[in-house]
Amino acid sequence: MSNLSGKVALVTGASRGIGRAIAVRLASLGAVVAINYNGSEAKAEEVRAEIEAAGGKAFLIQANVADAAAVQRMFEEIFTREDRLDILVNNAGITRDALLIGMKEAQFDEVLQTNLYGAYYCMQQAAKKMLRQKSGRIINISSYSGLHGNAGQMNYAAAKAGLVGMTKTAARELGSRGITVNAVAPGFIDTDMTAVLSDKSKDAILSGVPLGRMGSADDIASAVVFLAGDEASYITGQVLSVDGGLSI
Ligand code: NAP
Repeated sequence: MSNLSGKVALVTGASRGIGRAIAVRLASLGAVVAINYNGSEAKAEEVRAEIEAAGGKAFLIQANVADAAAVQRMFEEIFTREDRLDILVNNAGITRDALLIGMKEAQFDEVLQTNLYGAYYCMQQAAKKMLRQKSGRIINISSYSGLHGNAGQMNYAAAKAGLVGMTKTAARELGSRGITVNAVAPGFIDTDMTAVLSDKSKDAILSGVPLGRMGSADDIASAVVFLAGDEASYITGQVLSVDGGLSI
């Protein structure tokens, strides 16, 4: 794996789950990691403590990514501390599941605002800096649902499919300045987000996973650190499914 010493990374939604695993892995490779969180300050502190105990560097940064002004403040704070950004991982995400006929506009808006607009706000702020640096890596956490649909997740699938379009567009716009933009599409991953599913739903999903198990947050972090490192320098505009074969 690449040595990321001297690099600065921002991971949104890094207080729990997949974002936490990504933050820990990036820091273990030498990056200084900005741990973004929204409400879970104590959990975010745990992530910082874990990174620092292993000899890494990290700092916390609270911001609701759905709020453009808060995102702008977050980037100003990062640039005041570090004055650069090498890796942006748009990971923050929520679900508000309902079948189409019962989905409220508020549920649709909330998911789009966090999962799609949040990534747009962060990509825009990051791109301005990365364009001046003439280097950077942007990795968007999409989903199996965005590529294939999932009953009960019209809002979420729309946001995650939108992320794929944004990834490919930004890859085209930013490539000439040495910036790569890719997406990772996790399948069924063991985090708080999926802990709410009943055993029956979990068994039904697992029956379609050739590898026969849920993924771990670390499985996703492995793909992200690959895309963030030197080994992936000629890969851009791609969507890497990390789903145990669910999408085959
Ligand atoms: P999770 O365990 O529920 O964690 C979500 C993280 O996002 C938390 O750190 C949370 O921070 C943060 N977050 C939520 N809303 C935010 C906001 N408005 N501003 C800033 N941070 C916010 O979820 P996860 O399973 O790790 O999912 C991480 C990403 O992977 C999401 O984008 C999700 O859609 C995607 N994904 C997950 C799966 C899966 O099976 N788990 C599958 C495909 C894709 P606070 O707690 O501080 O609010």
